[in-house]
Amino acid sequence: MQFRLDEQERAARDDLRTHIDDFSAADMAAMHREMAELESDRQAPTVFHPWLVERGVIGLGWPPPFGRPGTQTRRFVAHEEMDSAGLPTYGLEQAEAVGWMLATFGSEDLASEHLPHILDMSWSYAGGYSEPEAGSDMLALRTKATRTPDGDFVVNGQKMWTSGAHLADWIFTLVRTEPDSTRHRGLSLLMIDAHAPGVAIQPVRVMGGWRVNACFFDDVHVPARALIGQPGHAWAMMSQALDMERSMSFGGREARLLLARYLDRIGRRGIQLDEGAYRDLGEFIMELQAERLLGQQVVARGERGEPASGEASMSKLHGPAIAQRVAQWLVDALGPDAYTLNSGDPLAEDAEQFLRASTVLSIIGGTSEIQRNIIAQRWLGLPRG
Ligand SMILES: Cc1cc2nc3c(=O)[nH]c(=O)nc-3n(C[C@H](O)[C@H](O)[C@H](O)COP(=O)(O)OP(=O)(O)OC[C@H]3O[C@@H](n4cnc5c(N)ncnc54)[C@H](O)[C@@H]3O)c2cc1C
Repeated sequence: MQFRLDEQERAARDDLRTHIDDFSAADMAAMHREMAELESDRQAPTVFHPWLVERGVIGLGWPPPFGRPGTQTRRFVAHEEMDSAGLPTYGLEQAEAVGWMLATFGSEDLASEHLPHILDMSWSYAGGYSEPEAGSDMLALRTKATRTPDGDFVVNGQKMWTSGAHLADWIFTLVRTEPDSTRHRGLSLLMIDAHAPGVAIQPVRVMGGWRVNACFFDDVHVPARALIGQPGHAWAMMSQALDMERSMSFGGREARLLLARYLDRIGRRGIQLDEGAYRDLGEFIMELQAERLLGQQVVARGERGEPASGEASMSKLHGPAIAQRVAQWLVDALGPDAYTLNSGDPLAEDAEQFLRASTVLSIIGGTSEIQRNIIAQRWLGLPRG
C-alpha cells in the first residue's frame, strides 16, 4: 500500500507548516503556562485554540453539509504536523470526535446548537464512558437515565477517569436508558451540560502529571433534545467513536519529536555512541514509521468506508508501546539529568516527564490487553477466550 498526498492535501500541509513556524517560542511558553494553570497538559483554550480556529483545521472531513471541505487524510496530516512541532492536538481531537458524531448521528436541532461552537472552539467537551466498575468492560455501566412524562431525562450515576471534564462545557455521556437492559442493549448517548444542577466534578490525578476527573450525576435534568441518535441504540455509534479514538496518535508523535531533538543534539555536540545504541536508534525510527503508517491506514480505510477496527487497535497497541521504549531509552541515555527534577536540561526534563506520561497511554482509550483481544477476534478471527 502506498500513501501519497494529493495536490490540495500537500498545499494545505505546506501552508500549515509556515503558520507553525510562526508560532514563536514566546507563544509556546505562554501555551505551556496556560496548560499548567488549568491542570491540562494538552489543552490551551486561550493561547492555542484561537490559533487553531484561525488556521481552519477543525471540521475537516465531517459529513456534508457540516464542517469544512477537506479529506480525513488532510485532517490526519494537519494533526501530525502540529503534534510533531509540539503543538498539542488533544483538545482538537476531542472536539472533532464530538463534531463528527453530531454531524453523523445528531438531530438537526442538536447539530445546529453545537457545531458552530465546536468549529470556533468556544465550547469544550469531555467523553464520559468509563465508570468505577466499568472500564475495560464498558458494557457493565450503571449510570441510568429515566424518562420524565414529557420525554426529558433524569440522570443518576458516576463516571470515572473523565479527561478534561473540569474544563468542559458538555459531557458526552453514555447511559442506560432501559432499566432492565443488559450489556449493549438499552444504552443511549446524552449531551449533558457540565454546569447543570446535580453535576459534581472532582479531580483525580494520575501518573505523568495529568488531571482526570470523577463526575457525579445526582438527579440531573437533561432535556429530550440532548439525546444523540436513537434511544437505546448507542452501542453502534460508540463502536465507531471508539475506533476513531483509538486511531489517534498515542505517544508516537511525541516520541518522534523527542528522538529528533536527541539526534540533533548528538549531531551538534559530536557525541559518539556505541554500535548497540545506533542499532536501537535505527529500530526506533523504523518502528515509529510503522506506527505512523498504521494511523494513516486507519484513516485511508475510513475514507473508503471500510471497517478498520483491527488496524485502529493495532495502532492503539503499538503507539504507547514504542513511546514507552523510546522514553526509557532516552532517560537512560541522558543519564542523571533525566532522573533529576529541574535539572536545567530541557531535553532531559521532557524525556523524564514523557516516561511518566507515556505509561498511562496504554490504559487510556482501552488497555493494551483489550486491544490484543480486539485484534485477535476482529482481525485474526480467533474465537473469544
Ligand atoms: C489518564 C486516563 C485518562 C482517561 N480518560 C478517559 C475519558 O476521558 N473518558 C472515559 O470514559 N474513560 C477514560 N479513561 C478510562 C480508561 O478508558 C480505562 O481506565 C480503561 O478502559 C481501563 O479500565 P479500568 O481502569 O476500569 O481497568 P480494568 O478494566 O479494571 O482493568 C484492570 C486490568 O485488567 C485487565 N483486563 C480487564 N479486562 C480484561 C480482559 N477481558 N482481558 C484481558 N485483560 C483484561 C486490563 O487490561 C487492566 O490491566 C481514562 C483513563 C486514564 C488512565
